Amino acid sequence: MIAFSCPHCTTDLLRSDREAGQEIECPVCKKPVQVPVLTSSALQSLRLPWYYLFLEFFAVALVIISAVAALVIIYRSLKAKQFFWGLLQGGLTVFGALASAALIKLFLDMGRSLRDMRHRSGPRSG
Ligand SMILES: [Zn+2]
Repeated sequence: MIAFSCPHCTTDLLRSDREAGQEIECPVCKKPVQVPVLTSSALQSLRLPWYYLFLEFFAVALVIISAVAALVIIYRSLKAKQFFWGLLQGGLTVFGALASAALIKLFLDMGRSLRDMRHRSGPRSG
């Protein structure tokens, strides 16, 4: 479905994808309105597989959790007067999480560019 508003009377309209680009009559003001065509970028973001969002959320959560864990580790080692080891462990925790998040991001970007390539070389219906 395509959601848009009438440029004449700003009524919210809803049309099926098949009517994209066609001219319809606004049911309220009876003036001709063209149904907008979804841009390719908007279409592509709509077609992202569900796990992309999940993985991105997971990567962000991983960084946040590791940052908290690192703070706890450093705080505890400060109390035990072992600042060096705490800093080392905390740093390794953050580094590991950042590396994992970067790998997830790399994987997602690779998937995106692969899909874009397939889109560009695939048949076009206009
Ligand atoms: Zn209207």
